[in-house]
Amino acid sequence: PNSGQPGAGSGDNMPDTSLRPKRMDEMVGQRDVMERLKIAIEAAQKRGEPLGHILFDGPPGLGKTTFATVIPAEMGTVVQMANGAGLKAPKDLLPYLTNLSEGSVLFIDEIHRVPKAVEEYLYTAMEDFRIDIVLGEGVSARTLNYELRPFTLIGATTRAGMLSAPLRDRFQIREHLGWYTDTELCEIVRRNSIKLNMPIDDDSAAVIAGRSRRTPRLANNRLLWVRDYSQSKADGKVTGPIATAALDMIGIDVLGLDKQDRGYLDTLMRVFVGGPAGLEAIAHTMNVSGDTLEDEVEPFLLRSELIVRTRRGRMMTAKGYAHMKQTPPKRPL
Ligand code: ATP
Repeated sequence: PNSGQPGAGSGDNMPDTSLRPKRMDEMVGQRDVMERLKIAIEAAQKRGEPLGHILFDGPPGLGKTTFATVIPAEMGTVVQMANGAGLKAPKDLLPYLTNLSEGSVLFIDEIHRVPKAVEEYLYTAMEDFRIDIVLGEGVSARTLNYELRPFTLIGATTRAGMLSAPLRDRFQIREHLGWYTDTELCEIVRRNSIKLNMPIDDDSAAVIAGRSRRTPRLANNRLLWVRDYSQSKADGKVTGPIATAALDMIGIDVLGLDKQDRGYLDTLMRVFVGGPAGLEAIAHTMNVSGDTLEDEVEPFLLRSELIVRTRRGRMMTAKGYAHMKQTPPKRPL
């Protein structure tokens, strides 16, 4: 997912991968999670067993995929990457399962999107390291019991609540990734500016971090745009005011909200008179999917108390109106 900004979304795969930490000690923040994982990894290695299955949940861009790549690196093993949306039937899972080497990792991003039939297949794979393959159809159908090499499944989801209990319970380690602090994001921005051969000062790092919605992926995207901007407009020199001008230009405001975030607030304010409004109604009006809003837009607006979720729908808060520089409508008492 990306935020659809110039320099913030387009072509983010390449730089995103190159800025992604390769080892655990290159990662910033998530200290508790990191400590627990280190203990689990060390213990598994001492026992000579694969690491228990791990589930990461949290909003997009906070490091789920990063963890799924650094963990195998720490274990000295390989990882296969899959996406829940692409695993439509059990047969889609087979190439991954049969390719596993002992102790290796299978990463399934968006695991909440795996259909029930695939999920049930995962149960025995995770629990007993075996799967039943049905060959043929009807009376001539035979079931083949296939032994898998012991492996570690790492699942990632933005919607832990959508996972069924039997699947969730099969993960021995479950970790929630929360938002980063400003200080942590500044550190990520500073380190990555060095990786990009463009070390920046504390002021500029603070501007970029402060407008990144507490999310490392956004901090990287903003940094890349500031780099483009400064190279084009300021001979590659980055200062606080230059970073501010660059981000203003692509519509990223002081809270780090982008055009889509403000479009959401604007729709809720203007079309739905501040709410309550249902998610799907807002999504239809904005012509985007409800999932995108729920995963990428709402979590930060809720956390910043710009909107609230009530039983009757989403509502603007006084803080939301103030941020949009509007006055709330007078409501009958
Ligand atoms: P999604 O679910 O949308 O794929 P994600 O949670 O998997 O998101 P990542 O792709 O792991 O997020 O993180 C996005 C980028 O943010 C990474 O490429 C990396 O550069 C940076 N990043 C994430 N977490 C950290 C961290 N703890 N320290 C340093 N950089 C990080």
